[in-house]
Amino acid sequence: MMRDSANDCPFPKRFPSQLLRDDAFFMTLAYNQAIDGWRRDEVPIGAVIEYGGEPIAAAHNEVESTGDPTAHAEMLALTQASRALGDWRLNGATLFVTKEPCPMCSGAALMSRLARVVYAVPDPKMGCLGGVTDLNGIPTLNHHFSITRGILELECRQLLQAFFREKRNSFPSAVDETQSPE
Ligand SMILES: [Zn+2]
Repeated sequence: MMRDSANDCPFPKRFPSQLLRDDAFFMTLAYNQAIDGWRRDEVPIGAVIEYGGEPIAAAHNEVESTGDPTAHAEMLALTQASRALGDWRLNGATLFVTKEPCPMCSGAALMSRLARVVYAVPDPKMGCLGGVTDLNGIPTLNHHFSITRGILELECRQLLQAFFREKRNSFPSAVDETQSPE
């Protein structure tokens, strides 16, 4: 089968031990989702939602393939998780995402009442959980979650930077830099 070389992701997926279900484990699953995104020519951002020690949702960015600006990995994962739990309230669930959530996804994470958000790469351009601003810090909100930063940051950053480097070299005029980590 012929493959479009532009979609060949040079980074292999990782296979963490199932025994140690720590933050790095779930972030590795999100990292693997990001690689799936790259293979479909999407900005490589992945998200996983953990509940009760199990992944109940896994998604990657699908903005290009769906033509939908809301099809960020986090949004798709939140929808999956709500279906899995049969409740829009995701109390007790943790979102793992390879890049700091944008304004839309930070807002959706708050609206879904997640217990915790874990992200890998901070985003000083668009990040709304500490990068540019911190929506979780709005004092009048009736729900807040805890935030853990920097899990697998190096790996997830390298993935994003390599993707944008390749896009710049191949299609300089077509690169949407809004999700670039640089
Ligand atoms: Zn987003």
